[in-house]
Amino acid sequence: MTRKRILLLGSTGSIGESTLQVVDEHPEELQIVALAAHSNWQKLIAQIERYRPISVALSDVDAAHQLRQELERSTSPTPKVYEGANGLIELVRATDGDVLVGAISGGAGLPSNIAALETGKDLALANKESLVMSGEILMRLATEKGRTILPIDSEHSAIFQSLQAGKRDEVEAIILTASGGPFRDTPSEKLKTVTKAEALNHPTWDMGAKITIDSATLMNKALEVIEARWLFDMDPSQIRVVIHPQSIIHSIVEFHDGSMVCQMGSPDMRTPIQYALTYPRRLSLGVDRVDLAEIATLTFLRPDSKRFPALRLAYSVLEQGGTAPVVFNAANEIAVAFFLREKIPFPEILGCIERTLDAQPIRSNPTLDEIFAADAAAREEATRQLEANRAHSQ
Ligand code: NDP
Ligand code: MG
Repeated sequence: MTRKRILLLGSTGSIGESTLQVVDEHPEELQIVALAAHSNWQKLIAQIERYRPISVALSDVDAAHQLRQELERSTSPTPKVYEGANGLIELVRATDGDVLVGAISGGAGLPSNIAALETGKDLALANKESLVMSGEILMRLATEKGRTILPIDSEHSAIFQSLQAGKRDEVEAIILTASGGPFRDTPSEKLKTVTKAEALNHPTWDMGAKITIDSATLMNKALEVIEARWLFDMDPSQIRVVIHPQSIIHSIVEFHDGSMVCQMGSPDMRTPIQYALTYPRRLSLGVDRVDLAEIATLTFLRPDSKRFPALRLAYSVLEQGGTAPVVFNAANEIAVAFFLREKIPFPEILGCIERTLDAQPIRSNPTLDEIFAADAAAREEATRQLEANRAHSQ
């Protein structure tokens, strides 16, 4: 049997490492042909030794030089090394494969995801930011090229699985579940002084830093509403969110007959990653099994839009359309980076997003170039604002 050839971009991160664990479970089915990351050449070296890819890329040029020097000492065959942001695209174009796992974090993942579809590869997508920025274009490109975008995000994998219980025109709504993050019950006043360490302490999922902060602000769910709108071609009015602290039900599809079909399982990203890589088959996987009697209670709450304005903003940018979601995402990435460097208080993340949305012109029906331009302009504006506020408050 021929193995499925995987290009794994973002291999040194949380989703990247979980993807490699899935490959370890099924070496007879899955093969790594390319690996890429930003700057962590040390971890990449270990992955190269183990998975023997044909090509690798680091978007940080200095790190790529380091990697080359280390590889020169190696006695085994070494992969071709690409470098820089363009190197990611060159790697995707030059490497034959069946599917690209998009596990880069943030808008930096968009160009390589496009390159994957353009060169006839399926896309197993964790990088939700690229769908937020250009969902319409990515979905259209996939259709034109006859390729599939398979969701890795656990909620979207759950929706994808649950949709198989009926026909598309039988669907009434989709309901995304959210853990509520570490500040689910934290009063507004206290949110002003929560620390980076508290925000990084997610109650149910172990993930990269950026998405963990997004979970604390509910921006993660906001981005997921937009992601769902494009992945499943849903009207935003058909997409709802419910807080479900246990993270056992990963999302729900409601059909016209009132039936609600959901997917459940322990919160472990290997399940949706494997499903995206082996769909439509289900192979064995050594994740923890859920003991429902032990869990005993599953609870559900409405999201609190006063303390967490992110969801309201998601529907508003979807309604505005055009480059509004691009600005929404870009401002968030900048604000999260400032928060992670402990330069701004937690509520400033949403403050910055709202102000940047107010300040930036929105362009409708943008081309990809216009999307990249709007992204760059919004990043600049958000940075300028946060720097100015800091200077002001010092
Ligand atoms: P991590 O921060 O753990 O990993 C990010 C990965 O992307 C690393 O390999 C990093 O390389 C690489 N990377 C970052 N910036 C660049 C860049 N400019 N060029 C090339 N590579 C880059 O993130 P996660 O794994 O948590 O998340 C990845 C994506 O998956 C995000 O879009 C997130 O929203 C999504 N996702 C994650 C989930 C999770 O459970 N973690 C769940 C659902 C979705 P380096 O190590 O060298 O910096
Ligand atoms: Mg998710």
